[in-house]
Amino acid sequence: MRIGLAYLLQETNSFSPVASRLEDFAVVTGQAVVERWAGTRTEIGAFIDAIGETEHQAVPLFAGWAMTQGPIERPEFDKLLRMVRAEITRAGALDAVLIALHGAMAAVAADDCEGAIVGEIRSLVGGIPIVLTLDLHANLTARMVDSVTALVGYHTYPHVDMYETGRAGAELLLRTLAGEIRPVMAVTKIPLIVPAENMMTTAGPFARVFALGKEALAADRRLLAYSVFGMQPWLDVAEAGAAALVVSDGAREAAAECSRRMAQLFWDQRAAFDVELMTPQAAVAQALAASGQPVVLAEPADSPTAGSPGDSADLLAAFHEYAPGVPAALWVHDERVAAMAWEARPGTVIRTIVGGMYDQVRRKPVPVEAVVRSISDGRFVLTGGYNRGMRVEMGRTAVVSAGPVQVVVSEKAVAGICPEVYRSQGVEPRDQKMVVAKSATGFRSEYGPFAAKILIVDTPGASSPNLRRLDYRNVPRPIYPLDEFGWLAGVR
Ligand SMILES: [Zn+2]
Repeated sequence: MRIGLAYLLQETNSFSPVASRLEDFAVVTGQAVVERWAGTRTEIGAFIDAIGETEHQAVPLFAGWAMTQGPIERPEFDKLLRMVRAEITRAGALDAVLIALHGAMAAVAADDCEGAIVGEIRSLVGGIPIVLTLDLHANLTARMVDSVTALVGYHTYPHVDMYETGRAGAELLLRTLAGEIRPVMAVTKIPLIVPAENMMTTAGPFARVFALGKEALAADRRLLAYSVFGMQPWLDVAEAGAAALVVSDGAREAAAECSRRMAQLFWDQRAAFDVELMTPQAAVAQALAASGQPVVLAEPADSPTAGSPGDSADLLAAFHEYAPGVPAALWVHDERVAAMAWEARPGTVIRTIVGGMYDQVRRKPVPVEAVVRSISDGRFVLTGGYNRGMRVEMGRTAVVSAGPVQVVVSEKAVAGICPEVYRSQGVEPRDQKMVVAKSATGFRSEYGPFAAKILIVDTPGASSPNLRRLDYRNVPRPIYPLDEFGWLAGVR
């Protein structure tokens, strides 16, 4: 059988000032999908491996990944849909499709991009099996669920199971094709948005919801897969909200009951997701008082994987003011300073302002006098648990030192999750008293093994965990935490 494989991920932030374009996805098609993505610990890497182990033929369709930014411009999204249509058509007759999407992609005037993509694929391929994998932060919509045969999401946050999720999706598809199972799904949407910081699946309230799903599956062999979607909270769309989904082998009521129980437990624990935030001043003071190093200062409000531009230099200002003379490191997305450092030579002193280049409403630039330490093309490969093997390009990059503070400046935004942002530039986080991770939670799997302490800092930004401060206009109401109300789980 011919099985189409596709991968297209972006998590959109409705509050980000930077619009997404199709070129941000660096889409490759046909055989180039295998050349670029085989061997990576991603969903598409897993699809390629799983189908490669069978007698079936893998038909690579398209693959792309874009850093989180603001909604995709409508003409750009139309181009993207045309690309999807063209590749499905070019592939010829397919017997099944395996596709990985994020689930929280939005375009200007199109809230539900993934629903549009899988809806388009369904209309082109007819009634063949389609299995979809999604990020745990997906906003599950009726159109996504109605367009596919089965659907499964990540089980980890920080995300370290993209590959395993791809494998789980492939297994559901292969078993369906073999006639072993007949997938039936049940979904419960939950009128709830929660900050990302406490959505960890290793411990805490979210872990308990996952544990409930796991128990239910162990107790009833008809239940095939469960997913809980916390929805990333910076998505201001009409169908917004968390969800619990269960795939069963023909057992609709058992699946519905399991999804209701997970949804209710999620709802009942909603207050436990609130985040304890510190001012930059308090965080620096605590870091200085802590023994050992590095203390990781997480700055979720400027997390590029959550859609912020990565342009905050607020903690540089805090280091200057509250910790003069103390070694620290931070990364700032600032193409202007990166270009300036490239033009000057290593060893040269530059005087400029850094930060606040893209989000000019929420950020202030910080004046610096710094020595250019090094310049590079900003290319590196992820080596930790997060998308291991994925190639990253941050464009023209430089390290400039402002006193004892090493500032990595880059032309493009990158995930703030990984220490490679520093290590690839010769800056070792362990040599610093404080290091900034522009990430809500993802950084924990990467920095956790060597961090002396982790503190979450409250700065302004499009991905602030302080949800009541954000300017939601389109989410359905009532919704927690914007409204206080009672709710009992029921299946749509
Ligand atoms: Zn996610």
